[in-house]
Amino acid sequence: MTRVVRTRSELRQVLADAPRPVGLVPTMGWLHEGHRALMSRARAQDAFTVVTIFVNPRQFNEAADYTRYPRNEARDLAIAEAEGVDLVFAPAVEEIYPPGFDTTVSVGAVARPLEGAARPGHFDGVATVVAILFGLVRAEHAYFGQKDAQQVMVIRQMARDLAIGTEVIACPTVREPDGLAFSSRNAHLTAEQRAASPVLRRALLAARDAFAGGERSGDALRAVMRATLAEEPAADVAYVSVADGDTLAELDRVDGPALASLAVRFGATRLIDNEPLG
Ligand code: AMP
Repeated sequence: MTRVVRTRSELRQVLADAPRPVGLVPTMGWLHEGHRALMSRARAQDAFTVVTIFVNPRQFNEAADYTRYPRNEARDLAIAEAEGVDLVFAPAVEEIYPPGFDTTVSVGAVARPLEGAARPGHFDGVATVVAILFGLVRAEHAYFGQKDAQQVMVIRQMARDLAIGTEVIACPTVREPDGLAFSSRNAHLTAEQRAASPVLRRALLAARDAFAGGERSGDALRAVMRATLAEEPAADVAYVSVADGDTLAELDRVDGPALASLAVRFGATRLIDNEPLG
């Protein structure tokens, strides 16, 4: 049976008696195959699995995006139960940010480009809520998806710098059969946009193929992605990037581990994806 708690004090009580090691899977709900893979990884590696469901207002840089973010707690709890999750923490906003809350965790250079530049304040919100969740749960391991590659880097930096004793584990991106990465935001796509959406994956695979064929110019690899995305008129490109795998600085030439990534809007729905190169 999956237990559900909503307050910090209930959470503390349950965790006091939990077998170790504890694995934490932070989510914003509307659970899908990507989340399930994180839960199943935690279940395999840890004696007690905690899933948090919290749509974190501080990481939304657009109020409308927060309001329309999909939510369905009953369905989420059924999925957590099916995955053998031991505990779900589903707090109200005031439980995470009580009156008087006045701290922001702000990660430096790795949080600035890409999603950080496109969504001001986003990573401050992410780092702040994950620091709170790490402090509350004190898990040995926490599982995050490679789909949000920059987020993993930001959280690793935060956990290292703040000496938080939770190991951050990145898990592979889970995709639909046509290549679209699972995302809660996919629920907003119209049938036409959904049909067009695999172009993100195609663009990344085109860059990967060009790289495998010997192309090392950052500009050329970014151009390959843009050319593929241009095949879909519904795809409104926010950015394409070929960046250093450690710093996320844009590369002129790829001569070490690199990350190809992109953000694309279909109407009001913004999707991201990435693929390592090298
Ligand atoms: P979210 O609920 O979107 O905040 O995501 C919660 C966690 O699930 C994050 O660590 C995400 O990176 C991860 N995640 C989301 N989508 C996927 C996916 N398609 N494959 C793997 N992990 C994912």
